[in-house]
Amino acid sequence: SCLQSQHEMGQIAERQAQVEAMKASVEQQVFERTLELSESEERFRSTVENSAIGVALLAPDGRWLQANRALCEIVGYSEAELLKLNFQAITHPEDLEADLSYVQQMLAGEIRTYQMEKRYIHKNGHLVDILLSVSLVWDKFGQPMYFIAQIQDISERKRTEEALAQTRDQALAATRAKSEFLANMSHEIRTPMNAVIGMTGLLLDTKLSAEQQDFVETVRSSSDALLTIINDILDFSKIESGKLDLETQPFSLPECIEEALDLVAVKAAEKNVELAYLLEDETPRDLIGDVTRVRQILVNLLSNAVKFTPRGEVVVSVRSQVEPNGQSAFQFAVRDTGIGIPQDRMDRLFHSFSQVDSSTTRQYGGTGLGLAISKRLCEMMSGTMWVESVVGQGSTFYFKILAEAASTPPRRYLNVTPAELSQKRVLIVDDNATNRQILTLQTRGWGMSSIAVPSGEEALAQLRQGEIFDLALLDYHMAEMDGITLAKEIRKMNAELPLMMLSSGFLTNRRVTELHGELFAKFLPKPIKPSLLFDRLLEIFSENQVPPTAPLPVRRPEDQMGENLSLRLLVAEDNLVNQKVALRMLQKLGYRADVAANGYEAIAAIRRQSYDIVLMDVHMPEMDGLEATRKICQRWNEHDRPYIIAMTANAMQGDREACLAAGMNDYISKPIKIEDLSRVLEKWGLKLLAPAG
Ligand code: ADP
Repeated sequence: SCLQSQHEMGQIAERQAQVEAMKASVEQQVFERTLELSESEERFRSTVENSAIGVALLAPDGRWLQANRALCEIVGYSEAELLKLNFQAITHPEDLEADLSYVQQMLAGEIRTYQMEKRYIHKNGHLVDILLSVSLVWDKFGQPMYFIAQIQDISERKRTEEALAQTRDQALAATRAKSEFLANMSHEIRTPMNAVIGMTGLLLDTKLSAEQQDFVETVRSSSDALLTIINDILDFSKIESGKLDLETQPFSLPECIEEALDLVAVKAAEKNVELAYLLEDETPRDLIGDVTRVRQILVNLLSNAVKFTPRGEVVVSVRSQVEPNGQSAFQFAVRDTGIGIPQDRMDRLFHSFSQVDSSTTRQYGGTGLGLAISKRLCEMMSGTMWVESVVGQGSTFYFKILAEAASTPPRRYLNVTPAELSQKRVLIVDDNATNRQILTLQTRGWGMSSIAVPSGEEALAQLRQGEIFDLALLDYHMAEMDGITLAKEIRKMNAELPLMMLSSGFLTNRRVTELHGELFAKFLPKPIKPSLLFDRLLEIFSENQVPPTAPLPVRRPEDQMGENLSLRLLVAEDNLVNQKVALRMLQKLGYRADVAANGYEAIAAIRRQSYDIVLMDVHMPEMDGLEATRKICQRWNEHDRPYIIAMTANAMQGDREACLAAGMNDYISKPIKIEDLSRVLEKWGLKLLAPAG
């Protein structure tokens, strides 16, 4: 038992030792934790003290309780000095109300934090811009204890911002001044240019030797080119200086596209480049917007596309989509199979005065303004413009605009299946895939059943196999067998099948018509216009069908008009594309006209030389058509002045009266139709021939 108790004693001692050790360890730990805690409190203090931004605690009434070094530096007071003040005392009086209102909202528990920019008054009296962020600490009884404020000195940033704003304002003012200067200059240059153009026009009407004729024509075409460049610059500077307003009038999308295509059709036909266009089915046909500017964009893109495409095709397509606000977004694409644009040059494209390659400038000409103008115009129509391109394969320029769809009755040629066309079988022969696709879509849309083949051989194969057709549409330009040869081959097999010829190029078309009128029931110019195709098809299939063996050659009475009735014409129109449209129509009628860009120029031109008829736009800058007409009527009597015919987009009743009241003789409405134009020219031109009185 002694041994046992000895053993127990030993155990007790061991335990005591263990307890002692544990006690020591706990004490050590407590000591360390305490040290750590006070160290971390110290660390926190010194963090706040040394923080780069100002930090402070404030009593609910705004007195400073504690402020770190950074804050003292910002305001120029020592901490001891600050503690005798409240924040109101060093806040700029103009910023106090806003700050106090935040404080009130915070004390009312409405907001948890706030941030504001305000100004402190430095001890030396200067103002300091600061960014203030504040939060509020509450005690456990729900009483506000103190605010924690962080204060950042932003004077430097403010100064930079102000300097930047100033620089920007100066730059903007300089740009505006430059644009206004450009606008004024180009306007000044236009006036003598128009004289040069007008006078060479007169010279061309006199007896000249072949050589002289050639010289004068060069002068005339060079001055036309120069005028185009000046007009571009004028347009661009108008946009830049914010002086361009957009119209909002209902217009027809297909007509707008067709007019744009017409302007490049001759160039394209010369190069044998196919032109086509396609509107996706659900695209509204009538919209409200600025038709002139949409057409201007299209003409720009189309002339570039034709210019940079040595072979292949240029195709316009349009799709639309309804936006959440009820407007429609129209996305246009102008695709070509031309030389393409290198990837690293694309970003420069839409900058003013920039061309992809200055060496191409010499080869192709141009100012490098077209795309810049077009893109700005898109942006003015809440849209954008961009491009995709592969060198050697071609480019597609896209643009998107927002516009409202006009609620007009649907066109006759859209989504109807007229009985005359329904179930008719048509053979389409065209070596261009896009055209085959478009013709197939269109004819099927009218309930016809169509088969499209890419060559004369395949067309003949279809007929040999015994396929029965009611009509064949033949393209004129085809690589292996052209449309005429094919037509003759078809006639050998089938004397009855009506044939329709598709051909690009106005002149070619006319020659073909004269030479081969008996082969074809109808001719259709390319690019294909759905409304025209529809009419031609109806004519072929309507009851009193013209027998295909004795067709009437397509003969436009207006073709010779200029030869039979010579007229000296002036077109007063400010918009470049509208000018071109008018000039081209007149050209088709056999006339060459001079151009004035506003009322002043028109009067100056009439003072310089005599005209028989003035086609006068009503809305023009500087001096509009009405005022110009009044001035002309004051200055010249009835027998000495030209007849004045208004061209106006406002097809309202009152406008006609306003034009006539101003002294105009007649009126045609825009978009101008060639028939209207030839009608008024004939009507007033014949009056000139009639003996006076
Ligand atoms: P420009 O009046 O010189 O044609 P643009 O702004 O219309 O001015 O075009 C700028 C340049 O962009 C052109 O000179 C040409 O280098 C390039 N470019 C425009 N369209 C095409 C295109 N469809 N294919 C290839 N290059 C093009």
